[in-house]
Amino acid sequence: MRTGTDVTRIASANGGAFDVETSQGAWRARNVVLATGGFQKAKIPPLSAQLPGHILQLHTDDYRNPGQLPDGAMLIVGTGQSGGQIAEELLAAGREVHLAVSTCPEAPRRYRGRDIFDWLMQLGMNGHEYGFNAPTPEQLPSPALRFACNPLLTGANGGHDIHLRDFGRRGIRLHGHLEAADDGVLTFTDDLPQRLARVESGFGQRMGPMLDAFIAAAGIDAPPAEPRAADDWLPSEPAQLNLAAAGITSVLWATGYQLDFSILDIPVLDEWNYPRHSRGVTEHPGLYAVGLPWLTGQASALVAGVGRDAEYIAGQIAG
Ligand SMILES: Cc1cc2nc3c(=O)[nH]c(=O)nc-3n(C[C@H](O)[C@H](O)[C@H](O)COP(=O)(O)OP(=O)(O)OC[C@H]3O[C@@H](n4cnc5c(N)ncnc54)[C@H](O)[C@@H]3O)c2cc1C
Repeated sequence: MRTGTDVTRIASANGGAFDVETSQGAWRARNVVLATGGFQKAKIPPLSAQLPGHILQLHTDDYRNPGQLPDGAMLIVGTGQSGGQIAEELLAAGREVHLAVSTCPEAPRRYRGRDIFDWLMQLGMNGHEYGFNAPTPEQLPSPALRFACNPLLTGANGGHDIHLRDFGRRGIRLHGHLEAADDGVLTFTDDLPQRLARVESGFGQRMGPMLDAFIAAAGIDAPPAEPRAADDWLPSEPAQLNLAAAGITSVLWATGYQLDFSILDIPVLDEWNYPRHSRGVTEHPGLYAVGLPWLTGQASALVAGVGRDAEYIAGQIAG
């Protein structure tokens, strides 16, 4: 175990081994397992370079608490779990918040009498007994869905739902997808009603029916789902936002993460910057990967799911 050691380059060496350069000198390795995480690098859109220099920009990766931000209004870009949860925290702190809405689906924190993660864990662990086999990456309609966002909800204060229309009613200024920035003026897509409808319908289209089917198949006694009251609140923000006129002093990029294998000097990455592999065994002999989104399934980059993949890789190496 070498602590405090950065690997800076991995390349093929003679005899099928690897030359590994590190901050503590050079090594030779017979096998390499890429376990560097599926959330390696903060993803910030290129248009961030068009924002005026006096605006503080930071990614959720660097956000800790509202006190970190300068006085004034702020814009959060993205409504995945991080964006939604931080927007709620800033609203509670009395901050004026603008929020660029993405398409991550809202999900109820509690469903049919239990915490939603209780159901998801049960489905993941026992679902196969009732014919609910977790989808493989190959079964996804598009490889892009390996990087799709997680359901929008929160664990704060014991856990509760997040509803974007409710945010709007409580004073958060909702906008569409951020499209352009020019001379201190931001342009958003002008589709917020459709966007909110999509965010709200996602759970009822996929996850809800799947959980209902599992509960029925497993014969679990659970109360019926409580339908959410229809909410017709609509935002009225224009598609353009002048940062100075709105008093915005900071922008928080809640735009997720990306893979980064720039240390790898071996041509094994696909167009998604993802190692070409089968169950974590890459095309290059002796090179393996674990902990990546959808390596073998939805849980591959989660604490609860990595064990199965890691066990397989350990077996491959030992074999
Ligand atoms: C905002 C957020 C929320 C999350 N919430 C959950 C959750 O609720 N539940 C859940 O199960 N999972 C959650 N995850 C996923 C969770 O981060 C992963 O499941 C877990 O961290 C994966 O562990 P890992 O060891 O594969 O990768 P990591 O924990 O990312 O560890 C990778 C390690 O590799 C090191 N490393 C990287 N490059 C190099 C290099 N060149 N040289 C040396 N060392 C290097 C890094 O320093 C790091 O220590 C969340 C992730 C994010 C980003």
